[in-house]
Amino acid sequence: MRITEVEAIVLRQAGGLDETIADGSQDALLVRIHTDSGVVGYGEVDSLPSVVKAIIDAPRSHKYASGLGALLIGQDPLEPAVLRDRLYTGSLYYGRRGAVIHAISGLEIALWDIAGKAAGKPIHALLGGAHHTRIRAYASTLMPETPAEARAVTAAQREGGFSAVKLGYGPLGRDGDLDVALVAAARDGAGEDCDLIIDVGLAWRSAREAINRVRRMEPYRPYWIEEPFMPDELGKYAALARAVDTPIAAGEQEATTLDFQQLLDAGVEILQPDVTRAGGIVECGRIAELARVSGRRCVLHAWSTGIIKAATLHVLAAMPEAELFEYCVQTTELNQRLVTEAFPLLDGKVAVPTGPGLGVEIDEDVIKACRV
Ligand code: MG
Repeated sequence: MRITEVEAIVLRQAGGLDETIADGSQDALLVRIHTDSGVVGYGEVDSLPSVVKAIIDAPRSHKYASGLGALLIGQDPLEPAVLRDRLYTGSLYYGRRGAVIHAISGLEIALWDIAGKAAGKPIHALLGGAHHTRIRAYASTLMPETPAEARAVTAAQREGGFSAVKLGYGPLGRDGDLDVALVAAARDGAGEDCDLIIDVGLAWRSAREAINRVRRMEPYRPYWIEEPFMPDELGKYAALARAVDTPIAAGEQEATTLDFQQLLDAGVEILQPDVTRAGGIVECGRIAELARVSGRRCVLHAWSTGIIKAATLHVLAAMPEAELFEYCVQTTELNQRLVTEAFPLLDGKVAVPTGPGLGVEIDEDVIKACRV
């Protein structure tokens, strides 16, 4: 089998975007790889779609500077890990991190989709099998503006069957008293037997301020505190992790296992690679194993469409210690309708797809309606 065409497709929801909120499910970069046998693989990249498209569509320049699509044409798609290395090497001059690794991640997912479809097996079966067939999910959404709304959101997600809820970004970081009031109200809405996760969304400025706020939040039992600081402020992460009992989580901005080693060194307890950004399915398995052997935890970041949901569930299925699945409950068209599967919640858990490849069906009408 040979790869014949690599498409990078920019999708945008009808009616335009609100660029001021942290919601990447309003647009998407879809990857579609065609083969001479007719098998088609899908992947997605949760990054800046137009930039990732340029990285995939660019022509070859020299041995270490090539557009990624050109490196795949004519290759055997049934070797995703080998081709991932080919893409990494062929983009060294301008790659190694950031958007190039994001693009490689989406392409690698599409290659695994092809490999699974060709074998008639789900991706997790090709990774060694499923340690879990269903994963406990947490509802993931944005922190609303007021405590009253925060109480209503967690109550609604609890009512919807989730046993864990995360609220992130929004007003967090504007004011210490408001931060604590939002968390208190969110706990009130969630009830006592629901895990409550707080994603600060990079908004705290100093370690001292952060330590104070986490200590004030601890009566409301945050399950973890996520991304309190900008990703490169590792000294602040280390100071906060040393000072408080609540676990600190980070990693959705990182790419490759090397970046995650730095987070471990800074005392981050929960590593959060995004399968469409950190390097792909194999790389996320390596990061999860790094966390495990270091006595830490790995809970993958996942936001946006059903392709990300499916790819994440396959990685989690293959992890011996899969704790939680991040279930984005944003109601955007791309998040809810790009794939036909609904990923229903049953007893607070989501089933790992069992169909060939990713195990999801793409809705071509949504591609037509949202294609830029
Ligand atoms: Mg986050």
